[in-house]
Amino acid sequence: MVIKIGVLELQGGYALHHNLLKKIGLNSLPVKSGDDLKQSNGLIIPGGESTTLSLLMTKYNLRESIIKFAKHNPVLGTCAGLILMSKDVDDQRVDPLGLFDLSISRNAYGRQIYSSKKRIFFQYDQAKEIELHSTFIRAPKINYIGENINIVARHGNLPVAIFSKNLLGLSFHPEIDGIDIFHKMMFDKTSKFYYKNVN
Ligand code: GLN
Repeated sequence: MVIKIGVLELQGGYALHHNLLKKIGLNSLPVKSGDDLKQSNGLIIPGGESTTLSLLMTKYNLRESIIKFAKHNPVLGTCAGLILMSKDVDDQRVDPLGLFDLSISRNAYGRQIYSSKKRIFFQYDQAKEIELHSTFIRAPKINYIGENINIVARHGNLPVAIFSKNLLGLSFHPEIDGIDIFHKMMFDKTSKFYYKNVN
């Protein structure tokens, strides 16, 4: 069976995720419906505008399918994707999926013109830390983190990547910087970064 990673294509920055998956040798497919999701072995919820994505998820009947899918399949959310994966958002216009017990503030790193590459440290096992520089665009802040959720990357003291079981949420955009560690972690079973290898 060919493994295919679905990339949610409702709005936002999905194209670069397809490119990155291709670069690491994985097949991808666009997800615009529950049927597309059935063909997928994993899902990426890209960055974009979380208010719009929230409306479109409802419009295209994807809400329940994604919640069900996320119970047993790897899901990676970047930026607006992280906002949608959370449980609580400081904006009534966003109806999040509640995959993660997190509370999130939108746009908490400042406006679009303050977009920047920031230094982060990714801890991929107890002993090893990797320094990366990745892009934050009107990025969300993670305020509250529930039980059994691990912080896997930090910018200064702030958590910017959180991981639980088969779910990974990032405040930033590794796909813009060509950073493939997180995609490998979630979807590439041959990689040393693959999450089942992480203790
Ligand atoms: N600020 C956006 C939102 O709240 C997220 C930005 C992004 O995905 N880069 O939807």
